[in-house]
Order: sequence, then C-alpha cells, then structure tokens
Amino acid sequence: RTVYVNGEYLPENEAKISIFDRAFLMADGVYEVTSVLDGKLIDFEGHRVRLERSLRELDMPKPEAFDDLLEIHRELVRINDIEEGMIYLQITRGAPDDRDFVFPDPETTPATLVLFTQNKPGLANNPTAQKGIKVISIEDARWGRRDIKTVQLLYPSMGKMMAKKAGADDAWMVQDGFVTEGTSNNAYFIKGNTIVTRALSNDILHGITRAAVLRFAAEAQMQVEERNFTIEEAKQADEAFITSASTFVMPVVDIDGTAIGTGKPGNRALRLREIYLEESRKAAV
Ligand code: PMP
Repeated sequence: RTVYVNGEYLPENEAKISIFDRAFLMADGVYEVTSVLDGKLIDFEGHRVRLERSLRELDMPKPEAFDDLLEIHRELVRINDIEEGMIYLQITRGAPDDRDFVFPDPETTPATLVLFTQNKPGLANNPTAQKGIKVISIEDARWGRRDIKTVQLLYPSMGKMMAKKAGADDAWMVQDGFVTEGTSNNAYFIKGNTIVTRALSNDILHGITRAAVLRFAAEAQMQVEERNFTIEEAKQADEAFITSASTFVMPVVDIDGTAIGTGKPGNRALRLREIYLEESRKAAV
C-alpha cells in the first residue's frame, strides 16, 4: 500500500513521522474519513469543510498542501487502485524539538499531514445491512468538544470493546440520561414516519452522513425531529439505525438486549440506505 506523508507518496513501511509529533504525545491531531465508491470520493466537500472547522477550533495550522487535498485523495485512490474503501486523512500540530504543553510556533513547526487508504470491496453491498447490528448503552465519558474530530479515540475504542464483550456490535453513549451518539457514528430511531436524532451541539460529531441523510428524509416521505431521546424511547421505536461515512445507513435491531420493531432491519432504514447510496454515488467526485 502506498501512503502520503508530508508531500511524498511512499510505501507504507518507508513512511516516518517524529516521536515528538504532538499527535503521538498529546493526541493533538484531527482526522477525516471519506468513503470511496466506484473509485470516487463520497461527500468530499463536506469532509473538507468539517476538517477546516476542526483545525480552526483548535487553532491548528493548515498544512501547506491544504488546497491540494482533493488531488491528493484522488491520487492515492488511483495509486492503490481503490474501487470501494476508505481514505483516512490525519493532520497534527507537527513535531516540535521537544515535548511541551505550549503549542509550538507554526512558523518553525509545520503541521504533519498523513493520508492512507483501506481497500474494502463490498462496502456498499455490506451483508451486515440485511442483518442489522446490536448495540449496548454505555456512559459517555468523552471530553466536551466532540464536535471536533480529534484523534482522541481511546474512549470510543473502549466502548467498542465493551460492546464486543457483551456480544454486541457497538455502543450508544448516554449523557445525563440522553443518547449522544455511537462510538463512531450518529444514532437515530424511527417512530411512524418520523426520524429522531439528537440535535447538533458540542456534544456530538456533526456527521457528514447525518447531514445528507436528513436532507434525503423528505425523499423517503419522512419527517425529522432533532431532539434529545433516551434509550427507553429508542427501545420502543419501530426502527433504529446509525450513520457514518464507513457504514452509510446501518439498521440497528437490538438495544441492550431488546429487539427493535420486528427485530429485523426496518424498511424505512433500508430505504434511506438505498437513497443515500444512490444520491451520493451520483454526486461523487
Ligand atoms: N460520531 C462519531 C463519534 C464519529 O466518530 C463518526 C465517524 N467519523 C460519526 C459520528 C459519523 O460521522 P460521518 O458521517 O461524518 O462519518
């Protein structure tokens, strides 16, 4: 696999970054994940805009190549011959001469930029979508700026492990009694013709797939309510699902051991998945 590091395309085993890189020492980095279908980028502009916002919120310098990101993504997809898969982009505050809490001067410490691909044939036709996933609920113990897509993924990773241990696939996190989101996805339930999901704030990541799916709701003859909801309310729903760049729309069929609706993926969630895949393929770049 070829990866991109600070201006160079290299075999992955030749790519290097400093041990003083701030992402390694302090999780001082942000990232984006964009999916690739038919060799093209899905929702690239949404990811680019969110990345720019993450950098701004953290006062992190833009890498020199920021304006070339679309070309770099395309080149890496081409070199690695990705038809279906993911492309990860990571930006860090760079590697100062020594460890220090104070942000380094961006004039002397340029940002680190890394991109790599994951080949995932069958991503769109993922058989899991026909089966659905099971989630458990856990406390949301993350920091307070979940709207910034940082590389601090330890708690989400622990949440995923808690789910696996409980025989489930993922965890929905709960803060003050209300669901925030999944470990790496936004969370929804459907009651009648209404999709319910938490409103945007600093408490959740502003999902790019979320924005698209809520836009497509009308096409599926559905209404949207952005508001707080509890695990109890979601358990009594007709359907539930998650969204993310890597899972698109994925039905949830079980929450904390309670079957949702019929216990099978719901028609509305599957319809939303179809619409999302169709529309985003059309708009891919
Ligand atoms: N919430 C969290 C915590 C995530 O990590 C992700 C995936 N990056 C999402 C939501 C979904 O965001 P997107 O649709 O942009 O992939």
